[in-house]
Amino acid sequence: MRASLRFVPLFVALASALHAQSSAPAPARPVDWPAIQREGVTLLREYVRINTTNPPGNELAAARFLRDFLAKEGIEAQILDTATLAPGRANLYARVKGNGSKKAVALVHHMDVVPASPQFWTVSPFSGDVRDGYVYGRGALDMKGEGVAQLMALVALKRSGVPLTRDLVVIANADEELGSTGALTFADKHADLLRDVEYLFTEGGGNSVRNDTLRYYSVGVSEKRTFWQRLSVRGTPSHGSRPTKDNPVPRLVAALDKIAHYETPLHVTPGVERYFHDISRNYAGEQRQWLQNVTRALDDPRGRAWILNDLYWNAILRNTISLTGLAGSNKTNVIPAEATADLDIRLLPDANPDSVLATLKAIVADTAVHFSPLIVPKAPFESPTNTDFFRAIERAAHERDPNVFVTSSMLTGATDRPMYRKLGIVVYGLDPFRVEDADSQKGVHGNDERLSETNVGFGIHFVYDVLRYAQ
Ligand SMILES: [Zn+2]
Repeated sequence: MRASLRFVPLFVALASALHAQSSAPAPARPVDWPAIQREGVTLLREYVRINTTNPPGNELAAARFLRDFLAKEGIEAQILDTATLAPGRANLYARVKGNGSKKAVALVHHMDVVPASPQFWTVSPFSGDVRDGYVYGRGALDMKGEGVAQLMALVALKRSGVPLTRDLVVIANADEELGSTGALTFADKHADLLRDVEYLFTEGGGNSVRNDTLRYYSVGVSEKRTFWQRLSVRGTPSHGSRPTKDNPVPRLVAALDKIAHYETPLHVTPGVERYFHDISRNYAGEQRQWLQNVTRALDDPRGRAWILNDLYWNAILRNTISLTGLAGSNKTNVIPAEATADLDIRLLPDANPDSVLATLKAIVADTAVHFSPLIVPKAPFESPTNTDFFRAIERAAHERDPNVFVTSSMLTGATDRPMYRKLGIVVYGLDPFRVEDADSQKGVHGNDERLSETNVGFGIHFVYDVLRYAQ
């Protein structure tokens, strides 16, 4: 718990007033942070109990719940897109007005969650039970917990009477986990509601905590682009007892073998270069030197081997291709009419999808192998770090942990950010919690997803400060 601003000695207040960063508006009334944390925990438990497993999503129930919560705080929210999205689905929109002297900031989260397998959980995934100081539940981390941090921060700003220069826009989307139809619909149909939005934040950050020690804060500034392809080869169906030359399976396997042996080129984007340089502080000796100049290290066989051995580092340094799906005959004695394979291809933000596809076709070098897209790649983005909003995050982080650095990271997965980036908004991934890496790895899309009550309070206060400093 942090000391109330009321008790800061005058000279400290004056000293900080002279400091360039001191322009943050002060609250008119103090915030009761322990009470806010308790309210946040209650809100998260209730939110988790609304089962928004996608499919089918059922986000309309969640949107009504959030609307009613905001209404009690005097914030009017609209439930949108019920006619466009599938039955039972919806997006939610609300706006708290500032004085209009600066552009708006949008707080975005998704209401849907991935399925949970209760047999592998310690507690029922939709009970919202608290055990040993943790709220358990599907969505606690991804991302109802962050949604609660955003909403409660907004409530705390409003209750404490912080004068706002920027409007604060709340968006809760359906369907992030599958088709992104919620964000797609919102960005397509309601661009007018977002015309004045300068910055937007949602999931996609990645603060790192190991063995109870915060290693760094990380703001997500870019993400890989999903570029899934299906490869198919046609043949003539016949009986497996009489082999033919026109069996599509070995022909497809030969193409896949070439792709499996293809090493995609290494490429360092500006955000990734900064990330490696930042985290070099946590290493010593030659490892530190390698990370300080990753481009040079990749020319050194030992440095390169060490860096690429890390699955995350490898994935942010190149386009990646994972062969995931494979289908031929469903009967051992039948040569099929077609064989198919699915490739999970993830592109760096500045890669050109057409030229990557042309390269793969050239490597396969067989016109019988057809490539068809399974997904249209979303808009690329690499957000700048030299912005008021990024500095607001740095300030909030440094206040809590003066010796911990803030870096910029690339997400290897996908979020709804590209949909909003298309509208010209600067988008960030903000992780407002200090969750053990092992806990996120286990819980996000896994089992026993949980968020500590302390982290709920920490996250609300962190987002509150970021929003105050961004005014
Ligand atoms: Zn998510």
